[in-house]
Amino acid sequence: MFNIVRASLCTCLPKYNINPYLGRCAHNCIYCYAVKFPSFTGPVIPRLRLKEEISRMVKKARMRLPVMLSDSTDPYQPLERNYEITRRCIEVLANNCFPILIVTKSDLVIRDINVLKKTPTVVSMTITTTRSDVASIIEPNAPEPNARFHALKRVVDENIPAVVRIDPIIPSVNSDINDLERIVSKSSEIGVKQVTASTMKMTKNLLSAIRRENPGLSRRLIDLYRDGEWIGGYKYLNIDLRRSILSRLKSIVEDYGLMFATCREGFPDLNTTICDGTAYCRKTLDDLFMAEK
Ligand code: SF4
Repeated sequence: MFNIVRASLCTCLPKYNINPYLGRCAHNCIYCYAVKFPSFTGPVIPRLRLKEEISRMVKKARMRLPVMLSDSTDPYQPLERNYEITRRCIEVLANNCFPILIVTKSDLVIRDINVLKKTPTVVSMTITTTRSDVASIIEPNAPEPNARFHALKRVVDENIPAVVRIDPIIPSVNSDINDLERIVSKSSEIGVKQVTASTMKMTKNLLSAIRRENPGLSRRLIDLYRDGEWIGGYKYLNIDLRRSILSRLKSIVEDYGLMFATCREGFPDLNTTICDGTAYCRKTLDDLFMAEK
């Protein structure tokens, strides 16, 4: 449960990862990579004993690495409103001085600001488009983009560092450069520190899921990815197309004065910081390492 995860082409430093929910995340994004893993398919399963497990793990953990919630399900998906599993887990982590990395699409995160403020925390909000009509196709059950921007503003106003993840960019769906610029411009206005971006990586499961939901889109994607490459079990877009999309975005992000990183793209030269936002809790983490020596 407290595993250190590294995917291929990942340039992030080691961290722990926790998923408070198993099963298919209720946000139901059409591009969700987690459908590749059997634990993240089927009905949502709240992990009711997770807080107790984490309480034991924090005592045993040799290093206070940052803990990310979550890589395969949204820690603030709708059931969290009632179950409060994420909240109880971050209370344990914060009380034990573990840096926390939240990755979400939900404005419910603002409910827990009082807990998150107790320990170095970075909130990464995934915003793939400013257009509600596009979001409703690719992220049908997630809160609207505007709700996510409002939540981010609250987070930043509480002096919690924030990252916007444009993750993933799907060519012909949410790759319009004007829309991408609107995301960057709103993020900059709010006071977000960084934009992290990636292009969509295809898997067979993912393509089957898209085909079921949206056959027209799956045909378009097959064409677009035809001359791409397989890396670590994922089909990437053609390298020149990928670099061109991400380089254009990087130059916009820099024009707005924000830091930029790509996620699992193999372009470390485009990064001006670390993809997962740990740069904003790194000093404290280094201090913790020193204290534990
Ligand atoms: S919010 Fe994340 S984990 Fe949930 S369905 Fe969307 S991509 Fe998957």
